[in-house]
Formats: sequence, structure tokens, C-alpha cells
Amino acid sequence: MARIPVKLVSWDEIVEWSRGLAELIQKSGWNPDIIVAVSRGGFVPARLLCDFLDVTDLLAVQSQHWVEAAKAAEKAILKYPYQIDAEGKRVLVVDDIVDTGDTIELAREFIKRSWKPAEVRTATLQWISSVAKLKPDYYYLEVKEWTWFQYPWTRLEDVTQFIRRILKEDKRAREGLTRESLEKLFEEWYGVRVSDLGFYWDLAIEKLSRDELIEVSGGIIRPLKGS
Ligand code: AMP
Repeated sequence: MARIPVKLVSWDEIVEWSRGLAELIQKSGWNPDIIVAVSRGGFVPARLLCDFLDVTDLLAVQSQHWVEAAKAAEKAILKYPYQIDAEGKRVLVVDDIVDTGDTIELAREFIKRSWKPAEVRTATLQWISSVAKLKPDYYYLEVKEWTWFQYPWTRLEDVTQFIRRILKEDKRAREGLTRESLEKLFEEWYGVRVSDLGFYWDLAIEKLSRDELIEVSGGIIRPLKGS
């Protein structure tokens, strides 16, 4: 059992899931005039939904997470709260996943209040029903056990963070690791085969080294101070 459950998502799955989501929307008899991607996770599914649902108007709102001073909890805010006139329009807000639900709720409430469309609905590929405070109007997969969905558009960022976390938290990494032992720890922590990551593995190691978070010498990878 992996320490952190990760589902490595392929591009083919993204297309299949987006198509399935589009079918659910069609079957409900509702069709949007405008699709709004929650940036950045909602971009690819939103673009695919435009194709499957024959929608030409694609906008985005960007959410940002802030750690409030002296508080552990993160707060989501909208980075560019611009105005449009959406009077009489049906708006579909699209994100990759509803985890806590904070992000999509923020986007939905902002659009309702500021753009004043006729109706706003929400759609996501995944809905983590055990933790989310809201259920999207449309979702393709209900996830009961919390899992990190490693989408293809955040592969480098995620693999880099995953390696950092091992180097920071696993005692076995303190004195440095060979490439093989780091790969073994990665598989143990995340249940993902390094061979399935293709060139992303080397890109992540290169990035960590460039950012001076690790040192690679003599075939040994060592965490550096500040990593
Ligand atoms: P939320 O907690 O619902 O506000 O999620 C905020 C954003 O973080 C989502 O739109 C995703 O891009 C990302 N995210 C949160 N939880 C996950 C997860 N379990 N797997 C992948 N991405 C996630």
C-alpha cells in the first residue's frame, strides 16, 4: 500500500472522461452558452467540453490559494475578478476535480454575483464525495477514498514535489540515495512506477538540481539545505 494514494492519469483517460462528462450534460437536456474554465486545472477539460458540446465561448477565471497570516488554513481567492455582461446566458463552470470544493464554489459564487447570468452550473471530471462540501451538478467519477489525481498537465510540478517530500520526510534519504533507491522509495510512497513517468522523471531531477534543492554527484542524490 502506497503512503499517498496517487492515480496517474493518461491523456487518453482525460479525453474519455471529458467525453463521458459531455454526454451527461447532453442527456440532462441542458446546454451552456458560455464555458468558464477554472484556471489552471479546468482548462483542458473545459476545452474538450467546448468541442463535444459545440460551444464557442470559452472564458477562464483564475483561483489562487493564500495562506492567511497566522492561520494554518488556506483561503482561495480569485486573482482577476473581471466583469462581463452575461445577462440571459447559461454558464458552465468547469474544473478538473472537486476536492474540498472551495475553488469551484468561489468561482460559481463570483460568476453568479458579478456576471449575473441566467443560470450557473458546475462540471468536473472527479468529485471526492467523502471530503467535498459541495457536489458538482455534473461529474464523471465519484471518488470515495481520497486520492491525488496526477493529471498529465501537472506532471512535472507534481513529480518534483513528490521527490522533494521524500527527501524531506523519509529518514532513509538523509545521507543521500542512489538513483535506484530513490526510484524504489518513490514507488513505495506513491504507488507509481517510475518507468511510467517517461522523461518527466529526469526533468524533475534536473529541476531540483537547478533550483539547488538537491546535489547529484558520483551517482548519489543528496538533499541540500533549504530543500
Ligand atoms: P479544491 O480543494 O476543491 O478547492 O481544489 C482546488 C484545486 O486543487 C483543484 O481544482 C485541483 O486543480 C487541485 N486539487 C485539489 N485536490 C486534488 C486532488 N486530490 N488531485 C488532483 N488535484 C487536486
